[in-house]
Amino acid sequence: MTRDAMLRKAADRRDPWDVVVIGGGATGAGVAVDAAARGYSVLLLERGDFGCGTSSRSTKLVHGGVRYLRQGNVSLVFEALRERGRLLRNAPHVVHDLAFLVPCYRRRDLVMYGVGLKAYDLLAGRSPFGHAVVVSAAEAARRLPTVRTDGLRGGVVYHDGQFDDSRLLIHLLMTAADLGACVVNYAAVTGLTRDASGTISGVRVRDAEGGGEFVAAAKVVVNAAGPFCDEVRRMASPAAAPMLAASQGSHVVLDRAFLPGGSALLIPETPDGRVLFAIPWHGHTLVGTTDVALPAAPVDPHATDAEIDFILETVGRYLTRKPARGDVLGTFAGIRPLVKSGGNTAAMSRDHAMHVDAPGLVTITGGKWTTYRSMAEGCVDKAAAVARLPHRPCRTAELRLHGSAPPDPTDPLAIYGTDAAAVRQLMAADPSLAAPLHPALPYCGAEVVWAVRAEMARTLLDVLTRRTRALYLNARAAVEMAPQVADLMARELGRDPAWAAEQVRSVREAAGE
Ligand SMILES: Cc1cc2nc3c(=O)[nH]c(=O)nc-3n(C[C@H](O)[C@H](O)[C@H](O)COP(=O)(O)OP(=O)(O)OC[C@H]3O[C@@H](n4cnc5c(N)ncnc54)[C@H](O)[C@@H]3O)c2cc1C
Repeated sequence: MTRDAMLRKAADRRDPWDVVVIGGGATGAGVAVDAAARGYSVLLLERGDFGCGTSSRSTKLVHGGVRYLRQGNVSLVFEALRERGRLLRNAPHVVHDLAFLVPCYRRRDLVMYGVGLKAYDLLAGRSPFGHAVVVSAAEAARRLPTVRTDGLRGGVVYHDGQFDDSRLLIHLLMTAADLGACVVNYAAVTGLTRDASGTISGVRVRDAEGGGEFVAAAKVVVNAAGPFCDEVRRMASPAAAPMLAASQGSHVVLDRAFLPGGSALLIPETPDGRVLFAIPWHGHTLVGTTDVALPAAPVDPHATDAEIDFILETVGRYLTRKPARGDVLGTFAGIRPLVKSGGNTAAMSRDHAMHVDAPGLVTITGGKWTTYRSMAEGCVDKAAAVARLPHRPCRTAELRLHGSAPPDPTDPLAIYGTDAAAVRQLMAADPSLAAPLHPALPYCGAEVVWAVRAEMARTLLDVLTRRTRALYLNARAAVEMAPQVADLMARELGRDPAWAAEQVRSVREAAGE
């Protein structure tokens, strides 16, 4: 995938695309893969970097969602559990099974969570994931060596999936590109066009890098702009009533020492009635999330001091060593596009919604990363009907995604799947690219070069936040390695030292320095 070629293909095409997708997050990428796999011509446009919205800021769980079971949303849990199994089969290099422990300090909690999580297993049916078991206090402490043991009665262990959200997203877009789709980042949709009958007939696009503008004609436009889908709906009809509520979820990243056992911790009920996870992730400990209603979705949300304090305080009650502010290595926040139904946002449905807003415009929003594929299936069925495209069945249930390869826990590049060989070739050609970029992080120069040459990374933040996860895992280390990464990128992209210096400044700012 190279941006220049993609942009040229998008700008030069005169025939209408079968499907134009607005938004390069999980929902838009899923739609692009589904439509391209059916043989439709597809253009996907993302105004920032791929995944710069919610889809790189999730808790990184491929899950049915135990909290939705508690809310009684059995159909959502059932669908998500089915998709969980599919995703593990179709992208085994990015998704893996993870054991979660629910520590129980009251006997009735052991019974309640034991029964609930067995029901979760039953809903999953025959599943490649491990099964729920009730364990003794000693076994709970063995699995989670840092769990607070005074008063511990035992625990319930259950299994779900874990993944790297932005890596899966890039591989979804590469899958779409492999199937012939044209995908462009830094390409904002600024308006919609209509034909003589008033049907939406295409989109106006602005190249955020070069500043050029063009129109891409479409038989149907899919609005997958996530928390910003109301903005796109208003391009079609300025009076459209908002269908979304915004809710911010934040995470903090701590050292691995806070959760050294390999299992995750689930706190099933925080003081404000939510669920909090502490999860081993890329050699660190990821803790979150909060759920704070916002009047409008910010483009680049940040965890607030209050949210960070809440997370540290809550998880600290369950650990032998309470994390303090000085232990926080990184933070990130994302906006849930929740479909409006009244009430507080934590209790609001995570189901998705689909609307035909105007002839030729299908909006899809809400849902979960886990269910992106089934959402896309329904959306492409609808879009094909709206555009009267020739009927073609969905092909994604068993479609192996780009990079799909058996997992290899011994290979530090395993998350690239079959692309790992190409990253290794870069190291072989230039051994300086094999050296670690920072002692605290597992990344090397070859990954930067690969991100620019093959994954359409355009800025330093693209590389440090979404192609690697450096800025989230350890913000200080990311700032320290930023000049070296910027130099490598400048060489690849043909940029000058002033560009590199500006990129480093943007990373400092993102790290809060
Ligand atoms: C804190 C948090 C934790 C979560 N954890 C999980 C989890 O563990 N598991 C799970 O299954 N789900 C999880 N979710 C839900 C999941 O992350 C979201 O459902 C999913 O990422 C939404 O994807 P999206 O593509 O709809 O939105 P986004 O990822 O926000 O993508 C929309 C894109 O549209 C682009 N865009 C907007 N306007 C335009 C325009 N005019 N032109 C071009 N592009 C435009 C934006 O830049 C953005 O990139 C979580 C959500 C949050 C907030």
